[in-house]
Amino acid sequence: MTLPDSSSPDLRTHVNSPLARVARTVLGARQVAMVLGRTVHLSGASRAEFLADAEWVAHEQVHIRQFREHGVLPFLWKYLLESARVGYFNNRFEVEAREEARRLTGGGRRN
Ligand SMILES: [Zn+2]
Repeated sequence: MTLPDSSSPDLRTHVNSPLARVARTVLGARQVAMVLGRTVHLSGASRAEFLADAEWVAHEQVHIRQFREHGVLPFLWKYLLESARVGYFNNRFEVEAREEARRLTGGGRRN
């Protein structure tokens, strides 16, 4: 039997990330997590705060999978194109992350 491991020791995080800080400023958000490759870059949230939110973790893990499936640079390019076309909220990679995180955790809070 496998239980969800909320401490996620294999999940790489980078706290106080300057890149996440830029995104946080642009988005006007209190807390930001952004995945680059296999690392979750955090700004405004500690690793513990991030890991305590199962739906948030699930959402970012979908992005880690997307990076793995598409390749880092192709995914960044596709993600930016998609955002330019339809915006952040309707970006198909965000829709997928949002829906899968909700399905896995039964939540419904995160964008
Ligand atoms: Zn996302």
